[in-house]
Amino acid sequence: MDSPILHQPRHRTSIDPASGYLTIDLGALARNYEKLSMEVAPARAAAVVKADAYGLGAEQVAKTLYAHGCRHFFVAHFVEALGLRPLLSRDAQVFVLNGLLPGNEIACAEGGIIPVINSLEQLQQWRNAAQRLHRRLPAVLQFDTGMSRLGVPPEERTALAATLKTCGMVDILFIMSHLASADDAESEQNGDQLAEMNRIANEFPGFDICFANSGGIFLGQSYHGVLTRPGIALYGGAPTACGPNPMEPVVRLDVAVVQTRTVPSGARVGYSGTHVTQGETRLAAIAAGYADGLLRSLSSKGAVYCDGVRLPVVGRVSMDSITIDITALPKGRLTLGSLVEVIGPHQSIEDIARDAGTISYEILTSLGHRYQRRYR
Ligand SMILES: *Cc1c(COP(=O)(O)O)cnc(C)c1O
Repeated sequence: MDSPILHQPRHRTSIDPASGYLTIDLGALARNYEKLSMEVAPARAAAVVKADAYGLGAEQVAKTLYAHGCRHFFVAHFVEALGLRPLLSRDAQVFVLNGLLPGNEIACAEGGIIPVINSLEQLQQWRNAAQRLHRRLPAVLQFDTGMSRLGVPPEERTALAATLKTCGMVDILFIMSHLASADDAESEQNGDQLAEMNRIANEFPGFDICFANSGGIFLGQSYHGVLTRPGIALYGGAPTACGPNPMEPVVRLDVAVVQTRTVPSGARVGYSGTHVTQGETRLAAIAAGYADGLLRSLSSKGAVYCDGVRLPVVGRVSMDSITIDITALPKGRLTLGSLVEVIGPHQSIEDIARDAGTISYEILTSLGHRYQRRYR
């Protein structure tokens, strides 16, 4: 039997169909929210819960954060807002970062969802919807301050100012923009974007500002405005690329061993035989692969852990399984059904992201739906 590892899910008792356990620590999530709230006070912290709260479960995440005082929730797509809006009290606001596609205006207004207006065209359509419904409609106005992605571009600002004069029916709650390099405190793009945001605030006086994502919060108070929009930091991800991560881990992933074997020197491992053993080797196959978000780029690069011992991935990552080298463990330590740590105290989401050649955001949002999710 396995010896207990800190926070490891209890061993199965009766029928348990899962071969992997994704544990989400809602207490740690709440503490991260409180930490960020204190960091930005007197400004407030919203929660970015797009992509199912970065894969962690938008419903559980949003309800937990609401209970800890969060009242502003950002999703990316209108369809995400339609799912989330009914789960939260009326005093919570749900914003759609990507704005509205033509035809969704009435459903958005009737659903009590607030669009982020990213262009003159979207502003006109929202104004027209307000006129058709004979009521004032709330909106957020996003400006592009140098990312060339979403938001009103500089050359549209004059026309926008003119159009706003015809938008008495549209309540602009605040203006916002998004930082492109906030995770790098040294990047001069941050200062450039802040200067542009301040120019915009002068051109459109009287509006509150919403600017910083997780990284932006740690760039200092001048980036905070009245409302900040952290995402990754809530979920335990490092808000900045350098220095220690001030956030508490929220996610833990344990995966079951489905076979062990001993192979002689010279054995080929996995698809295309990309790994050949150098000596007698003990191997284990674990029950998760690239279909479960353990990216194929981890082939012969990543590792999992057991009792703090690093167990390297050998050969290609398959769709549903990964082969690991367990020679470093005592014989018999891992048997059918034993769990190994994929994300946990020995391997952060940043560690696995680095091995996979990506960022923690992609690791979290790739986590599949075949794990049993446990909320603590
Ligand atoms: C995703 C997103 C955020 C959250 O960013 P993090 O880096 O995860 O904190 C904030 N604002 C906008 C516009 C976003 O698209």
